[in-house]
Amino acid sequence: MFEDKNTSKTPLDNLGEFALIEALTKSVKHENKSSVLGIGDDAAVIDHNSKQTLISTDLLVEGVHFDLSYMPLKHLGYKAVMVNLSDVYAMNAIPTQITVSIAVSNRFTLEALEEFYAGIDLACKNYKVDLVGGDTTSSTTGLTVSITAIGVASKDKIVPRSGAKENDLLVVSGDLGAAYTGLQVLEREKAVFQVNPNTQPDLSPYTYSIERQLKPEARKDVIELLDELKIVPSSMIDISDGLSSEILHLSKSSNIGFHLFEEKLPMDPEVNLICEEFKFNSTTAVLNGGEDYELLFTISQKDFDKIKNHPLLTVIGHAVEQNAGCQLVNGLGHQIELTAQGWQNFSEKED
Ligand code: ADP
Ligand code: MG
Repeated sequence: MFEDKNTSKTPLDNLGEFALIEALTKSVKHENKSSVLGIGDDAAVIDHNSKQTLISTDLLVEGVHFDLSYMPLKHLGYKAVMVNLSDVYAMNAIPTQITVSIAVSNRFTLEALEEFYAGIDLACKNYKVDLVGGDTTSSTTGLTVSITAIGVASKDKIVPRSGAKENDLLVVSGDLGAAYTGLQVLEREKAVFQVNPNTQPDLSPYTYSIERQLKPEARKDVIELLDELKIVPSSMIDISDGLSSEILHLSKSSNIGFHLFEEKLPMDPEVNLICEEFKFNSTTAVLNGGEDYELLFTISQKDFDKIKNHPLLTVIGHAVEQNAGCQLVNGLGHQIELTAQGWQNFSEKED
């Protein structure tokens, strides 16, 4: 993962908004021809010629969506970009630009924000996306980040949530649950640290999960693979809130039910070990954990031969008639209705 090297600290009040924007964006270079005009004017200009433009925005609030006591700022920058790119890939489109808006309190220094932007820059480089604008303002309550991703696709390639048909196969990329088990480990270590700051935890048995939580990758490779295999999914969504909730979204948008087979759920062995250690059910971690940023999609049965045995893709179920609902089928053949847990930020009342 990343190293944090900054030592000197520059308070933001010494700088002013324009010097801060300049400092944070001075190394920005464009990689896409479509980025006609970027940072430094009243608006960016993007030219996607005859193709369609896709736009997706996310808002991340300190204390609600991230906890800086275990999330280094560079990772936060990287992850904030991934979350947005993942939404564009989930439309079977290619992200080309982002804008980044921050509201930041004087608890943060220039060097801290430079770390955050180093994560953003790295994400942009790795995924060939240009940072073309944003907004910067002060805040009295920590850090709030809003990123907008802009992408491009030809009209016939765009995949909404609404196209799944009965008997289509339900496919997921990668493996599930590790971002959640990683979060559990980090939360536990934070609690231990608060009691005894001198403890040095051995996190090596949890490396994969912690990496999945702190440095997720959006599935650009899967979109490229589908293109190579000449597959256009009938519906697609990315897994941000948990498999269960995303299946219910596909179901609702496509007016279709799903059977999901518990024995097919792809999991890293580390997820099972952590679930045993924490005494929770690994299927529940996969269904409700979230933040995996894998792609969940449906394909026609005739495309099965193209994906079968591919290490990146697993068929986990199929679409059934709408009245059958969305059911988890366990090893004994019993059906359990899927329910959405998703994010419950609004359930915590302010006092
Ligand atoms: P305006 O007054 O028109 O809102 P700003 O002074 O806020 O302009 O921004 C100047 C330029 O810097 C614009 O191109 C804007 O998109 C860009 N910008 C502002 N804040 C950020 C940021 N946090 N990250 C990236 N670009 C930014
Ligand atoms: Mg502005």
